[in-house]
Amino acid sequence: MKVLAFSDSKTILAQIISRFRDDAEVHALTHDTEFTAKFGAAKTIGMKGDILSGSVAKAIEKMQSDEGYDLIAIGSTVTGREVAGMLATMLSLHAVSEVNSVNLDGGKITTSRFFYGGKSLLTEESGAKIAVLAPGIAEAKESPGKTEVSEIQLEPSAVRIVSKTDKKGGSVDIEKAQIIVSVGRGLGKKENLEKVEPFAKAVHGEIAGSRPVCLDYGWLSEDRQVGLSGKKVQPKLYIALGISGQIQHIAGMRNSKLVIAVNKDKSAPIFEEADYGIVGDLFDVIAKLKEKVAQ
Ligand SMILES: Cc1cc2nc3c(=O)[nH]c(=O)nc-3n(C[C@H](O)[C@H](O)[C@H](O)COP(=O)(O)OP(=O)(O)OC[C@H]3O[C@@H](n4cnc5c(N)ncnc54)[C@H](O)[C@@H]3O)c2cc1C
Repeated sequence: MKVLAFSDSKTILAQIISRFRDDAEVHALTHDTEFTAKFGAAKTIGMKGDILSGSVAKAIEKMQSDEGYDLIAIGSTVTGREVAGMLATMLSLHAVSEVNSVNLDGGKITTSRFFYGGKSLLTEESGAKIAVLAPGIAEAKESPGKTEVSEIQLEPSAVRIVSKTDKKGGSVDIEKAQIIVSVGRGLGKKENLEKVEPFAKAVHGEIAGSRPVCLDYGWLSEDRQVGLSGKKVQPKLYIALGISGQIQHIAGMRNSKLVIAVNKDKSAPIFEEADYGIVGDLFDVIAKLKEKVAQ
């Protein structure tokens, strides 16, 4: 099978290539050939020009007519989702979104994705040739395989960027963090972050949070929200403090390697996802853990 992989996120593109390179001939469309070439795609195609959805969609339309890909695998970013929508119309192909896993066995494309807020997993054989893949489809692993590098000039887009404004709270990429200290409503109030920050610093962790903390109360910026409608993280260590563990939160952190949960309610669902669970007041527990880390 032939798969075209595209994402404007280098990390997600590396994950997509790593997922498919053993099952298919993968061509990767990227803005960074030097980085992408390490992940073992048969062909690495560097885009020249502004990475705007219309321009990328036109480039993929041409590549599809030249190469006849069995699957166009697109990373789920704002640009990626737009490109997929445009391509579905331009190529008259069926697109499937928010895919968590893809199976290519027997030349058939089967996709799985969460439904009902993450409570159910739906596996479909839909005939879709465009799949929008959620971050974390596979671990990005470099491969020694040779790749043929070429370039494609993007055509101008009908979209013109008028201005860019940085998000409030600065930019943070928790999807790349190796250690995350995540706080939930159990934090109580924004001022209590001052008690958590020294602990996060001591364990070299990035602070993240549940939706109420990031969206409803604004104690943390929205780019730190973990979950179904937030970021999908996969750190080596995820420390959940005062988070109940609702399925929409779990959807964003279930790929963490090791999970430590602290909650004062021993029946909180987060303990079902945790490798280590501590029942207690989060502020008492982090004070003790911080002492241990300092020893
Ligand atoms: C469509 C949709 C999308 C959603 N997307 C997301 C998402 O992306 N991310 C997300 O997180 N949620 C999301 N939600 C919301 C989700 O359903 C939950 O409401 C949310 O995750 C709960 O956040 P929480 O665990 O911080 O708060 P709560 O459920 O209120 O839990 C707080 C926990 O803190 C504990 N606690 C309180 N005080 C302390 C203390 N001092 N020490 C220790 N423990 C303490 C309590 O026992 C409790 O378990 C979504 C919901 C919907 C409907």
